[in-house]
Amino acid sequence: MCGLAGGVGRTVPGTGRVSTRAELHQRWVIVEGARRMNALRINHGTSGNVSARYGEGMLITPSALSYDHMDGEDIVEFASLDSRPRGGRRRPSTEWRLHAGIYTARPMVGAIVHAHPMHATSLACLRRGIPAFHYLVAAAGGREIRCSRYATFGSPDLAAAAVEALGDLNACLLANHGIVTCGRTVAQALALAVEVEALATLYWHALQVGEPVLLTDEEMTRVLRLFEHYRPDASGGGTGP
Ligand SMILES: [Zn+2]
Repeated sequence: MCGLAGGVGRTVPGTGRVSTRAELHQRWVIVEGARRMNALRINHGTSGNVSARYGEGMLITPSALSYDHMDGEDIVEFASLDSRPRGGRRRPSTEWRLHAGIYTARPMVGAIVHAHPMHATSLACLRRGIPAFHYLVAAAGGREIRCSRYATFGSPDLAAAAVEALGDLNACLLANHGIVTCGRTVAQALALAVEVEALATLYWHALQVGEPVLLTDEEMTRVLRLFEHYRPDASGGGTGP
């Protein structure tokens, strides 16, 4: 459910500014993305965060507020990526620097999901990425999903570590922390987060029996080429064939 009814022209609390219909919609897309992140069991509690690029800045989930009790007015706006939040009734997620740093480094990224899923985070605690053990690793845009170096949560250095590990891909693991996924839309970033956790779970299971056989660079190049011709469904939420 999108809570737009009667919301057009509503003043954003603490700002004196009137929201546009597009902004109200994007705020609810973020709220629903955060709720789905937990419903899909790729995150729990108030950890993790969701954002979308908006204008010259971004909209992001607030700090320490249950997603079930959040509404569009709780989403925090940054008018630019290098500024402080623009008023509002909530403080932004402690990971706002992570999101702002990725948007700054990656102009084509429109939405970001950061979560703490069980298996992917377990691999990240081992400082292990996800190699080409399955062709769907290419859903993140490359031949592997890398694990970043460690940096303290909420720090500018974590943003730098994530940007390094992402390169031009759309997903990475964060050492001893969780994952980050990117997309043009919240639906895309969320779908990729679900895929990363599914891949991490498969990889984790395969490692219980032995060392998985990795696909060659040549095969992954072929898969990546095929992915270029694959188009996700109209919701923008698909990750691969
Ligand atoms: Zn986190």
